[in-house]
Amino acid sequence: MPATQSAAAPGRLEVVRRFVNTCDIEAGNDTLATPEACLRWLRGQDLLDRSVDTLDRADRDEVVAFRESLRDVLGVHRNGRLGDAVLDRLNATAARVGLAVRFTPSGSWQVHARGDGVHQAVGRLLTIVIGAMADGTWSRMKVCANDACRWAFYDRSKARSRRWCSMRICGNRAKQHAWRSRDGGKTR
Ligand SMILES: [Zn+2]
Repeated sequence: MPATQSAAAPGRLEVVRRFVNTCDIEAGNDTLATPEACLRWLRGQDLLDRSVDTLDRADRDEVVAFRESLRDVLGVHRNGRLGDAVLDRLNATAARVGLAVRFTPSGSWQVHARGDGVHQAVGRLLTIVIGAMADGTWSRMKVCANDACRWAFYDRSKARSRRWCSMRICGNRAKQHAWRSRDGGKTR
């Protein structure tokens, strides 16, 4: 985990941010490395009912694949458009977890997931993402512009222009790199 904590997201969206950050790519640590650890983490975030008391390797792999799809989706906030491969994965996940719309007495709607087992957790995470897309907070969720880092953070800057998880670490690294390239060009 980068030494400086990134800004937390509002409400339940923070659970999604923490989920993406269960893997510290740079350090090579994955909190969801085993089915047991995955179960513990998902339960700890209220993403699985108590009735789900075991996950297998395939469940764990599905959760991790979904996490990396989300990281790709967050990367689009800097890069523009979602590629076909990410879209296909995301749409397949939505179908698998049984996402459905329910209308409410106030004339509004709610998205909910009908899946069992690990699909319950993936469905709840996806529901939070859809809610954030609907209320506008999703556009502030980003991943660090340093490809070796890709840490998820919530951009609270007025101009929505934050690019790095931490200016002190990844931001400065990028600046130093640019400076070194310029300097090298001059002396040669
Ligand atoms: Zn970073």
